[in-house]
Amino acid sequence: MLSEVESKKLLEQAGIPVNDTRLARTKGEAVSLSREIGFPVALKIVSPDVVHKSDAGGVKVGLTNTAQVQKAYTEIIASVKEKLPGAIIEGISVQKMARPGVEIIIGVTEDDQFGPVIMFGLGGIWVEVIKDVVFRVVPVSAWDADEMVREIKGFAVLQGYRGQEAVDVSFLAKLITRISEFIEKNPRVKELDINPLIAYGDGAVAVDARIVMKP
Ligand code: ADP
Ligand code: MG
Repeated sequence: MLSEVESKKLLEQAGIPVNDTRLARTKGEAVSLSREIGFPVALKIVSPDVVHKSDAGGVKVGLTNTAQVQKAYTEIIASVKEKLPGAIIEGISVQKMARPGVEIIIGVTEDDQFGPVIMFGLGGIWVEVIKDVVFRVVPVSAWDADEMVREIKGFAVLQGYRGQEAVDVSFLAKLITRISEFIEKNPRVKELDINPLIAYGDGAVAVDARIVMKP
């Protein structure tokens, strides 16, 4: 399994916008990185043993100064050690906070029969409550990708509701095709998870990513 920092690096090369994310190995490093990146930042546990970082108390968002970064660093390490004793801790990722938008998930899994399959859907509470996702087998054409985006039950959410901005759906479709091309070029990728990608009227940014390679 690649770390969040490594996964985002690969995605960036594949043409998927990611937020600036760096690895800190000490509290001092977390502070200097957050100054370089610019507040507000988020801190997250980086561990091959932690898949759901929030559940382990491994995510702190919206940190606006160095004191908050220091406190978050200490709390994350303490919480992960308490909840998952023995977990290997590589460090803590320091990353730019993305402004609020519509949370999307894009995933790739390997199907025994069909090979790699791409999933697209609404993220955040939507995926947990109504499982609003659609699937296509790789390769996904531009036409298929456009159809995927329009097929979700919550398409109206992407078009803007209650004053919230409409997101750039053609850009989302483009990102799906870029993921498909990335998978075709990298057959060693077993699983890919972008959860969430935050979508806006003028683009989108992946703020959490996980790639698992085949042995
Ligand atoms: P995990 O899924 O492992 O619990 P995430 O990295 O997805 O951890 O963080 C949990 C939630 O925090 C995300 O779903 C998102 O809502 C929010 N979040 C995480 N990173 C950022 C960020 N850089 N900017 C804005 N919101 C973020
Ligand atoms: Mg996540």
